[in-house]
Amino acid sequence: MRDDLLKQARRVVVKIGSSLVASRESGLRPDRIDRLAEDISAVKDGGRELLLVSSGAIVSGIQKLGLKAYPKSLPVKQAAAAVGQSRLMWAYEKAFERLGRKVAQILLTHQDLADRRRFMNARHTLSTLIEFGVIPIINENDTVAVDEIRFGDNDTLAGNVAHLVDADLLVILSDVDGLFTDDPRRNASATLVPLVSEITKDIERRAGLSGSFEGTGGMASKIQTAKKVAEYGIPTLILNGEKPGLLPAIFEGLNAGTFILPRGRRLTSRKHWIAFTLRTKGKVTLDDGAVEALVRRGKSLLPSGIIEVSGDFGPGDAISCTDRHGKEFAKGLVNFSSETLAKIKGLKTSEIQRTIGSQEYEEVIHRDNLVIL
Ligand code: GLU
Repeated sequence: MRDDLLKQARRVVVKIGSSLVASRESGLRPDRIDRLAEDISAVKDGGRELLLVSSGAIVSGIQKLGLKAYPKSLPVKQAAAAVGQSRLMWAYEKAFERLGRKVAQILLTHQDLADRRRFMNARHTLSTLIEFGVIPIINENDTVAVDEIRFGDNDTLAGNVAHLVDADLLVILSDVDGLFTDDPRRNASATLVPLVSEITKDIERRAGLSGSFEGTGGMASKIQTAKKVAEYGIPTLILNGEKPGLLPAIFEGLNAGTFILPRGRRLTSRKHWIAFTLRTKGKVTLDDGAVEALVRRGKSLLPSGIIEVSGDFGPGDAISCTDRHGKEFAKGLVNFSSETLAKIKGLKTSEIQRTIGSQEYEEVIHRDNLVIL
């Protein structure tokens, strides 16, 4: 199962921990970033889509500001993050440029994903970057994030990103080999746990024992993140990021790290949320061609297939799709308001531009936001 899931993983989120890319004493480690970039580039050469979540802003900022210790005060932490983030990105920019690859910086707060419209917007931006072959490098927007809107640590952020982009795999690169049966620094007989099929209380306890090797989260937050993404059907691999060449070797069949299996069928929580939690604010009636395109051919909904619009809704709201006989067969998050949709229903893309000007989206409901019932 592990081998198949790794082989099939097309979209991969890789989380890079602070201690891999920076130390408090000497600041950022561009040599390490160069090597990580080579490994990531090699994985991308294999035809996979890569997104990075990288920590290290605060730690490299501490050194840049000449601070003696990890700051306790929030404004100082935020100042360190601000100076550190640009240095961190600059190192990634240079490392990937050398390999002929483009990167982009994305800074997120939890609020950005808790709000449906912003969630969708972030999703669209990330998909567009991936289509352009760019490697998005994501971090928490530490300079503005206060407690209520924080992810807290980058393991949690990486889990949210994996869900945001519907990843096939989350890789957490750390400075340890994976999850151990006990703390390997204190107990010489502690062994690596190569495969976790379910995160039980016992696994959580062992993660606690492994203690905090690095950064904010430690092993406990990695296991909690793996538990959450497993529920969305995404497997997690916790791997040592200090060993050059290990990441690409994993995709060639090497067995290393701790692999956590996903649970159940792969329906993202969001699709579940669209299908079972959200109340619809309106509906669109579709012609036979559009029904067929959505149900059988897995297409997005375009304005040309809409016969009628009813209800009062805005972009990001849930609506239902019915056939000509009024039977509801799908639900999705809509990109246009009911008012706009009433103007463009039945029109082709070229006619839409003439009617309401150029639009950010072509699709009324993107496939990713559509659930067939
Ligand atoms: N966002 C923080 C940084 O870049 C890292 C948080 C963490 O290590 O989990 O410094």
